[in-house]
Amino acid sequence: MYIDPHVHMVSRTTDDYERMALAGCVAITEPAFWAGYDRSSPKGFFDYFSILTDTEPKRAAQYGIAHHTWLCINPKEAEDPVFAREVIDLIPDFLDRPNVLGIGEIGLNKNSRNELEILEAHLQLAADRDQMVLVHTPHLEDKRKGTRLIMDAIANFGRLDAGRVLIDHVEEHTVREVLDRGFWAGMTLYPDTKCTPQRAADIFEMHGTERLWINSAGDWGPSDPLAVPKCREEMRRRGHLEATIRKVSFDNPLKFLSQTGRFKTEVTPTR
Ligand SMILES: [Zn+2]
Repeated sequence: MYIDPHVHMVSRTTDDYERMALAGCVAITEPAFWAGYDRSSPKGFFDYFSILTDTEPKRAAQYGIAHHTWLCINPKEAEDPVFAREVIDLIPDFLDRPNVLGIGEIGLNKNSRNELEILEAHLQLAADRDQMVLVHTPHLEDKRKGTRLIMDAIANFGRLDAGRVLIDHVEEHTVREVLDRGFWAGMTLYPDTKCTPQRAADIFEMHGTERLWINSAGDWGPSDPLAVPKCREEMRRRGHLEATIRKVSFDNPLKFLSQTGRFKTEVTPTR
């Protein structure tokens, strides 16, 4: 059994749900993000949030996978603050839907001033509504700078407990600082960029397994929805204990996500 805590199923086929279920996936969380295209109006996000809270849970349930989501406007589409605030205003009405775990994946893309303003607006919403937070960190060469800017913004904001915030897409040069500052950290396993399953196994060996998880981010680009079981195989091949493998791919996500009070590892029958 495993949990994939960050995967963009709107971009994947139903066959992917089936393959994930066969590989042992019992639950996923799907943060709101760029959908592979820019939306032309804030209403496009209303439709997107409806898909994330209604269509995808039903699609996942057909394969026995419990689907959860996080809502926000992603930093890639947040460069226009007026547009972004209209989207943020849509979110409160969705927060009470049963599969919504919190605000995410928020963060920075190009580390711009407007992105930072919208990041802070999301933190405000999270604090006001007592929501947990999932954070995206930039993939550019300034990942380290962007990761620090985000952690500083959260620390300066001062109303969010680091233990209820996960900083995702960490790599070798950012993982230590994220963990040392009390946050949870996620490693995103991509076939070529970010962390490969081998690099993730190296990072566990160097930094331990506390407050650290793995995810596939399976999305619209080259990515692999089976990356988590592939990393489990890599760890097995290296002789890691089954308990360690289970910890990073099941127990850790369960522990973090259970703080929401809404996370499930079983599909609730609708009848
Ligand atoms: Zn993502």
